[in-house]
Parts: sequence; C-alpha cells; structure tokens
Amino acid sequence: MGSYRAADYYRLDENLSVEERGVRDVVRAFVEREFLPLVRDHFHAGTFPTDLIPRLGELGLLGASISGPGCPDLGHTIYGLICRELERGDSGLRSFVSVQGSLVMWPIATYGSEEQKSRWLPELAAGRKIGCFGLTEANHGSDPGGMETRAEPDGKDWVLHGSKLWITNANLADVAVVWARGPRGVMGFLVERGTPGFNAGPVKGKWSLRASDTGELILDEVRLPDSARLPLARGLRAPLSCLNEARYGIAWGAVGAACDCYDTALRFAGERKQFNKPLSAFQLVQAKLVDMLTEITKAQALSLQLGRLKDRGINEVPLVSLAKRNNVAMALDCARTARDILGAAGITDEFGPGRHMANLESVKTYEGTHDIHTLIVGADITGEHAFR
Ligand SMILES: Cc1cc2nc3c(=O)[nH]c(=O)nc-3n(C[C@H](O)[C@H](O)[C@H](O)COP(=O)(O)OP(=O)(O)OC[C@H]3O[C@@H](n4cnc5c(N)ncnc54)[C@H](O)[C@@H]3O)c2cc1C
Repeated sequence: MGSYRAADYYRLDENLSVEERGVRDVVRAFVEREFLPLVRDHFHAGTFPTDLIPRLGELGLLGASISGPGCPDLGHTIYGLICRELERGDSGLRSFVSVQGSLVMWPIATYGSEEQKSRWLPELAAGRKIGCFGLTEANHGSDPGGMETRAEPDGKDWVLHGSKLWITNANLADVAVVWARGPRGVMGFLVERGTPGFNAGPVKGKWSLRASDTGELILDEVRLPDSARLPLARGLRAPLSCLNEARYGIAWGAVGAACDCYDTALRFAGERKQFNKPLSAFQLVQAKLVDMLTEITKAQALSLQLGRLKDRGINEVPLVSLAKRNNVAMALDCARTARDILGAAGITDEFGPGRHMANLESVKTYEGTHDIHTLIVGADITGEHAFR
C-alpha cells in the first residue's frame, strides 16, 4: 500500500526546531526499518524484541528528557516526539521506553542518592540494564494508597514483604523500583534481580500489549540495606509524580498510534473498490476519515502545547491528565474506525489497526484509567475531590 505518511494537516511540525525534526526523523526511520518488520512475530509470540534495547540506548531514546549521569537530556518536546513515533510502531515499544525513562530513570534522577544515580543512570540510558516500576497490586490499582506491600525496619536494614501485579518489564528487569508502605508512609526502593526472596513471573493470556512483557513481582521477606532506599522519596506523592511523567509520554504516544491507523485507513480506502468505486469516493467513508483527521489534529495541537509548557517548567498534573485522557480515547476511536474501514481485512495481522486497537485498551487503563483522569480534571476545575 505504499509507505507511511504521517498526518500533519495543520503543519504543526513546522513549529519544531531543526533538532526536534531531526530526532523525529531518526525515530521514524528506526520504527519503519528496524521495528515494524519484527512486531507481528513478537505480538504472536507474546514477547518484546529485547535485541533492540541497546539500539534504543544508542539512539538516545531511553530517558530522553532526563538530566543526570549518562542521560540524553534532550527536553520534553523531543521526548514526546520520540513517544509519538515509537507508538506509531506499537504501544508495547513506547511502553518499554516510558517505563525505562519515566518510571525508572526519572525516580532515580529525582529521588535517588548520588551513588544510585551514578551506578544506574548510565547503564539504563545505554540499555545495558533494564528497569521496571512496581506500584500496582492485585487489590490496589486506581487506589495505590491502599497498598499492602510493607517495608519494616530491622536494625540498619529494611525488610520488604508483599507483591505487585501488572508490572511492565517485570521479567526483563535488572532493577525494580518498588513502592512499599513504611512506618511513616510510602517509600521507594531499588530491588535488584537476584536479591533473595525477590522473584518475577509472567502475566499470561493477554489480548493486549502482547509485544510487551507484563508480570508479577513477589517480595518474600526481601532484606535490603538502607542504601537501596530512594532517600528523597517521601509519601505517595513520589510514585504519583513518576506516573505524571509517564502519562505525558502516553499523551504523545497515542497520537502516533492514531496516525498509523488513519494512514492505513486512508490508503486502504483509496485502493479498495466496491460498487466500481474506491471506498474513499463514498461520503460515509470520507466522513469517517475526516473525523479521524480532525481528532488527530486537535490531539497533535494539545500534545505540542503540553510539551512546550513542560519545557518552560509548567508541569501541572490536571493538564497532563486531560491530554492523556483525550488522546488515548481519540486513538482508540481511530483504531476502531480504521478497523471498520478495512472491513474483514481489518481483523487480520496484515494491518496495524487491529493490533493498535487491542493495545490501546491497556493504554486506556494504565497510568490512571480514563475515569480517574476525568476525576483529576473534575477535581481541579470544581475544587471537589470525588475519589479521596
Ligand atoms: C498492560 C499493563 C501494564 C501495566 N504496567 C504497570 C507497571 O509497569 N507498573 C504498575 O505499577 N502498574 C502497571 N499497570 C497497572 C495499571 O496502572 C492499573 O491496571 C490501573 O491503575 C488500573 O487499576 P486496576 O486494573 O486495578 O483497575 P481498577 O482500579 O480496579 O478499576 C476498574 C474500573 O473501575 C474504575 N474506577 C476505579 N475507581 C474509580 C472511581 N473512584 N470512580 C470511578 N471509576 C473508578 C476504573 O476507571 C476502571 O474502569 C499496568 C496495567 C496493564 C494493563
């Protein structure tokens, strides 16, 4: 069907700097040439293409906006563009990068000791080490404040007990950022693979995000020195601040998935004939394409402005929530519409929209569900907190 043409109807990319456009083009080419040829097999096998991890590091895509030892420090708009281009490939690829950067490197850079930063950040940025982020538990998803995992002091050590579920990269990770309830509130720890009592296992039978590792973390009386604690992380605000970083990337990433669906549907509709005319000649099909493009264009403007605000140091949680909520719902609608335009062919793995559609169901749920983001924005504009 020809090569990918990214929708940019309002020429928003003209607002990007030369450096930003350069990064966009590098990531777009990486996805096209190195990732997309692999994704179908990995999606079927339920695996992440781990061979690409060092390449992600080499391209500066891991922790792109983070400053610290060995980190790219490229700024927030560039990080957003990276997420957008990666998720055009697959939400699993963007999820890997979001977790490694926003949920592992960012808390280490923000809440870690100098020793933790110099030990882990260069390795994580290069993709020589992999991280995961353990907040959610089987009984506590939208309400992580109810967490049951405990950190008990014992002499100079801490002993962690509990479990975490739905953890991206759980089975790949060399280090897990684990959140546990201590004597004075929620605390963060770096737990290394191989620590006695610490184990991971896979979540099996996923319909969604199949080209991504999702698992469980078990902490059975895991003894850690105080140097494994993130010294500046105090209370539930610390893990929630990490989620805000990841949600920012998701808001951009969802636009990439939507662009891929739109482009596939537009090209398919131009080639497929019914009633002796291309599908694109029918008014109903045109209306679907116009609706997709309109929503994509609005989401592109939203994410670009969000990036510019964040680059200026404005990083308000409700603004990120509004963008994550809108852009993921928009992308899911686009994936469903594209699948519809493709007819029966849309349910096969020959085309991307079915895979994006399945993936985006997870993206709608993780990093704060659509409903939770509604309540965050609702609380901000009314002053009434519906979920505390
Ligand atoms: C593929 C995947 C990867 C993930 N990766 C990670 C990870 O790396 N690390 C991690 O810690 N977690 C991860 N998660 C977990 C994710 O963040 C949680 O699934 C999410 O927070 C929702 O929690 P839950 O699934 O328990 O749903 P619940 O919180 O039980 O919600 C179920 C439904 O109830 C609704 N609901 C809940 N509370 C309210 C309310 N007050 N008002 C109205 N509606 C409400 C929700 O919107 C949702 O529709 C991942 C999840 C998935 C699917």
